Order: sequence, then structure tokens, then C-alpha cells
Amino acid sequence: MTAIAFYNTRTRKKEPFSPIQPGHVGIYTCGPTVYGPSHIGNLRSQLSADLLKRFLLSENFEVSHVINITDVGHLVSDADEGEDKMELAARRSGETAEEIADRYTASWKEDRAAVNCLLPEQNPKATDHIQEQIQLGQSLDAGGFLYRIEDGVYFDTARFPRYAELAHLDLAGQEGAQRIAQVEGKRQPADFAIWKFAQEGVTRLQEWDSPWGRGFPGWHLECSAMSSKYLGEHFDIHTGGIDLATVHHTNEVAQSECGFGVHPWVNYWMHNEFLDFGGEKMSKSTGNVKTLSDLVEQGYDPLAFRYFFLQAHYRQQQSFNIEAMDAAAQGYKRLLTTVAALRKVSGEGDLEQQAPFEARFKAALGDDLNAPQAMAVVWDVARNAKLKEADRRDLLLGFDGVLGLGLSQAEVETEVFESEPRIDALLVQREEARSTKDFATADRIRDELAAEGIEVIDGAEGARWRRK
Ligand code: AMP
Ligand code: ZN
Repeated sequence: MTAIAFYNTRTRKKEPFSPIQPGHVGIYTCGPTVYGPSHIGNLRSQLSADLLKRFLLSENFEVSHVINITDVGHLVSDADEGEDKMELAARRSGETAEEIADRYTASWKEDRAAVNCLLPEQNPKATDHIQEQIQLGQSLDAGGFLYRIEDGVYFDTARFPRYAELAHLDLAGQEGAQRIAQVEGKRQPADFAIWKFAQEGVTRLQEWDSPWGRGFPGWHLECSAMSSKYLGEHFDIHTGGIDLATVHHTNEVAQSECGFGVHPWVNYWMHNEFLDFGGEKMSKSTGNVKTLSDLVEQGYDPLAFRYFFLQAHYRQQQSFNIEAMDAAAQGYKRLLTTVAALRKVSGEGDLEQQAPFEARFKAALGDDLNAPQAMAVVWDVARNAKLKEADRRDLLLGFDGVLGLGLSQAEVETEVFESEPRIDALLVQREEARSTKDFATADRIRDELAAEGIEVIDGAEGARWRRK
């Protein structure tokens, strides 16, 4: 058994992992708000959860993974005011909210499939769970946690003394007071909407009847209602981007602990850091967006983006730029070429020889999903001349169950060449020597490169090179 420890945002510590029900893990991941295309930053949060799931599966846990689709209630600001993102998108494009949600849900699923994210066991939509949300709201109402003001029914955060716990908020100080703007009539700035009333004279595309009046649920309510339906009222792991901790997840905890009468509601909170884009935060609402389709249009394999993702620990910020993406694409191709050649090797591997590498790989992931360290083991195996080829083959294909890089489909690519100024210049010198029939010099250059492990291939387009 691999020792497994995860960093828990709730306790600010790396903690040994043990599930509530032995052998089974319930994971809830905050999914997309489907009013626009998902960007590669959003994809990072999906990939982080997928790495977690794949690792737990490889450790023989049974995993129930729930990812929601937010198709109502997510307002333009965290302040419980402003327009619903879905309504705004519908008004701009002239389609219904449902048409928009369907389109972006489909492209979100395509992106996930292209980067080999495993299908979630449940993928519930908020609009399919309005009754469950109302029910949770009613429990909170019965417990005296809600109050009514002109624009909706609000959760009274003063009734929940642990409100600041998850995100370690300083509610009395600046951070707490300023993180949410005031809505007229709210008792505390942190109070949040459970149900918002449809404004008189404004026809919304999405509104429902409720015990409080016609309207629509607050955004946070869906995650508490749907997670409890599919994972129970106390479950193992909740994931999402770090930006969600201070408001969305803090409010999910408040509703759930008060509504279900549990503490802690979720045992482990795992938050991924952001993918930033040229120093800027990438955000759908500011239009500063790069999608997986953009990368594919530029000639990248979607799985090269998964390889890129694996270069950073999920709790480190990762910067996206074309140089880093190119380096990842090259590294990925090199790995594919190596595995493709190994797949042609016949014969059995030796489990005893493989064991130490497998243990290192698992230990890296067991240590709070340290993907860069796991990738170092991958390359150690790929390049290890002391290991038999059959062992390298078995190890790399085995690792791929967690990495999801499609290595078992790797085909030998004959066209993988590299470029580096020094070596390119040596090849030019060699070409010049050959053209003046100075074969001694040409051969010497080839031999020197061979000694560095570089293979020169002469073809119709001149000489190219690659590492052996
Ligand atoms: P959204 O569809 O914007 O509600 O976001 C879906 C998920 O993506 C949430 O877990 C966010 O925290 C996460 N997320 C948003 N932007 C980024 C980013 N640039 N890097 C990593 N995760 C992000
Ligand atoms: Zn959520």
C-alpha cells in the first residue's frame, strides 16, 4: 500500500488520506458554468481532479466522481447582484439559456475527452435539481438560518460560527468586509442568497415556483444539494479552483453543515492553483480566453496539453506561454516515440526489477499528487539503459493508467526531428563538407554527434537529427 497524504485547505496541512467507507472514495468537483467556452485554465481544474481520480483508482479504491454543470444562478458578481451569466449570454446571442447550456456542455465534454479525462459517475445539471435545492433551503429555513429581504432569501452567516473556517477568512477585517459588496438589507456582507426573487416586470428565461415565491436558486445551493444526493451528506473529497474557496466553497460549507447537521461536511478540500496566461489571470468573463480548440488549431495534440499540465504540481501556479507549450509538445513526442519503440519489444518483464520504480512513481503521487516528481520517474525509466526493454515497456504502460497520456496507442513516428542551434549548425557544416566531397569531415561530425547519442537522418529535405 502506498502512503497517501493530501494537502487539505480546511486544515492547512498535508494529512494522511483515509476514506469514510474503506475502499470507496466520493469526490465532488465544481464543474463549468456553461455560458461560454471553457478555457485551458478551467481544464486545469478538471485535469487536477482527473489525476486524483486516476491515482485513487490505481490504488484500487472504488471512486464515485460527481461533477456538476452550472446552468443557472451564477451571477456576474459574487455580490449576489447583477445578471445571471446564463441570462446575459442568452440575451446577447438571441438563443435560449438551454440552447447555450447544451452547446457549451457538449464542448466541455469534448475537451475533457480529448485530454483523456475519465467520465464522471454523475454529471448533474443544476436546472434538473431545483426541487432538491428548494428542499435544502427549506431545511435551512426550518432551522432558522434564513431571512427574507426584498430581493431574495438569504443565509444569515452570523448563525454559523465556523463560517470563516475553510478559507481562514478575517471577517472583521478588510478581507471579510470587502470581499462581497453590500446588497440592500443584508445583515452581514458575507450573507448570501439561497433564493432570488424574479424581479417584477422582468421576464427571466429560467424561473421556478418555490415556498418563498417565484425565482431561482442562488449559485452555491446546487453544489450542496447535488453532492448530498449523489455522495451523501458527508463525503470524502471536494475539489475546485483556489478562487472558489473564499466565497463559493465557504458558502457551500455553511449551507451543508447547517442543513445536514454535520461537521465536517467534507473531509478533504483540495484546491488547484491557477493557470495564468502571460501574467494575467485567465477569465471567461473578461474574454481573455485560450481554449483547447485554439491549441489544436495551432497544431498541438490535446494530450500534449495534458503533458504540459503534468509538468507542474497542482498547488503551484503554472504559466502558460507558447515556449512552455512547445517544450511540452516536444517532450510528449519524445515519450511517445520511446514507448512506440518499446511496444514492439516482445518478452516478459521482471516484476522484481520493476518494483523500485513503481514504488517511486506511486510515492510521488501519494505525496499530494506530485506530478512533476512522477514524471521524473517516467523519464528515469524511459532513459534507463540498465533496465531491460521489456521492464521499461511494462512500467511506462502501467504508469499511463494514472498519467492518461495515451501511451498504449503510441505508434512509431518516423518524422520526429529536433532542432537546436549548435547541432543544426554542425549539420550545416556536414552538408558543406559533403558538397565539397570532404567525407572525412562529414563522417567525423556524424561520429561526434553519435557519441552524444544523436542520430542523423539524411532525407529528401536534407539532414535532420533526433536523440536516440
Ligand atoms: P467556471 O466555469 O469559470 O465556473 O470555472 C470552473 C472551474 O475552473 C472552477 O473550479 C474554477 O476555480 C476553475 N478555474 C477558473 N479559472 C482557472 C484558471 N485560470 N486556472 C485554473 N483553474 C481555473
Ligand atoms: Zn460548487
